[in-house]
Parts: sequence; structure tokens; C-alpha cells
Amino acid sequence: MQPLIAGNWKMNGVASQLHEIEAVAASVKATLPSTEVLICLPATLIAQAVLTAAGGISIGAEDCSAEISGPFTGDLSAEMLKDAGAGAVIVGHSERRQHYGETDAVVAAKAKAARRAGLLAIICIGETSAQRLAGNALSVCGDQIARSVPENMTASSAVIGYEPLWAIGSGQMPTSGQIIEMHAHIRDCLTQCLGAEGKKLRILYGGSVKPSNALSILSLPEVGGVLVGGASLKSADFLAICRAAPAMNPPNVNSQKEQ
Ligand code: PEP
Repeated sequence: MQPLIAGNWKMNGVASQLHEIEAVAASVKATLPSTEVLICLPATLIAQAVLTAAGGISIGAEDCSAEISGPFTGDLSAEMLKDAGAGAVIVGHSERRQHYGETDAVVAAKAKAARRAGLLAIICIGETSAQRLAGNALSVCGDQIARSVPENMTASSAVIGYEPLWAIGSGQMPTSGQIIEMHAHIRDCLTQCLGAEGKKLRILYGGSVKPSNALSILSLPEVGGVLVGGASLKSADFLAICRAAPAMNPPNVNSQKEQ
């Protein structure tokens, strides 16, 4: 399984910072041509970033509407993001679940929209610190998988992002044992939901990934890549994480969507 190294700039970045994308894309093209790299950006930057990246990496979005078009002022459909050049979209990030009340049903509808538009959906799940301390981490994430992952998803239309909320932007990390246990559980849940296809979806780990811990995380069983927030904003840090990925022959998600 080809690992995916995905960045998430969140609500950061203006055009003058696209040199970071240029640096990542040029270096990946020249030195890591077999590593699958994606950076999800604010929608305002997508079209320009696709040109800047010049095929060296893929560019994605951070959220989409479940609707195709209509009276939804301020929203962007998956089709619009694809039109801007995105190859992927994050759905159900914990910041959207927390700040905008997005439920599993909303996340599933957005994942379906991504598939409809031909975008790779990065479907995020994860438990809070209180849920982990109460011993409920596995059941919480299992329920999120069951309710957020539509039944027709395939390995080429979706990946799962496991992001414990308490590890996001905090510098706190689960132990290797906790990541192994959770990713094995997510794999079981995916297989239950999707049958044989569920064995193929990549499961990304996200939460305080940085150059110093990327290699050990990527070496764990059932870790099919990483989702990187803060450390994706600086090309040097993000490239160091990309270099930790074992390289094979990647599909480029910006061209995958043409299939
Ligand atoms: C994220 O928000 O998806 C994330 C993983 O953030 P960070 O890497 O900064 O913890």
C-alpha cells in the first residue's frame, strides 16, 4: 500500500506563501518522485497552488458542501473544488465537527459528494481526551467509521484520517501501542462496513506529526500515511516528513480523479 503524506494548512496562507508549495513540489519531483504527497489548502489558494505545484504534488481542499449547487451562500461544492484543480478533500475534520456541529451523517454526505465529484475523500475521525480516559476510544471511533463512511467507498475514493483530538496541535502523542491498537480496530470496522474493499483503504495517523516522529509512526502496522497540520506550513519540515515515507509507485490524486 503506497503511503500518503497529506498536509492541512487549515485557515492559514495567502498567495505570498505559495513559495512553500513550490519548494515542496520541486523537491518531491526531483528527489522523491515515488512518494505520494498531497497538501490541502484554503480554497482561495487551490487554483494557483495547482499551477505552482506543476504536478510535483497533489493539491486538495479542506472541506466541501454535500450539495452540488444552489442557495447555500458561502459554501463550495465538491464539483467547484474539482473545477479549481483539487484532487482531494478533507471531510469531518474534528475542527469542523466541534466548531460547526458537523455530525457523522453530514460527514457521510460530504464524503459521498467528494466521490460524486471524483475527489479523494479524507474522512476524519478521532476521540476526545475524555472519551479516551473513560475507556471509550475504540467504540467512539468504531461508531464514527460506521456512520461517516458511506457504503460505496473504495480505496481509490477514500482514506481514513485517525486524529485523536487531544493530539492535534498539542504536541501530545498517543503511544505506538495506542496507534497500533486503534488502526487495527479501524481496519476491522472498515472490513465490517465495506467488505473486502475495507481491507484496502489507507488509514492515516494525524496529530502532532513532525520530522522527529514521522518515521516511527509511518513504520507502524496499518499506518498508511500521515495527516499533518502545523508541520505542513513550512516546506523544510513537511519535506522531512515526506522523506520518512517508504517510496513505491504512487498514483497522483490530481490525475486519479480523471478515471
Ligand atoms: C490536523 O489538524 O489535522 C493536525 C493533525 O494538526 P497538527 O499536525 O498540527 O497536530
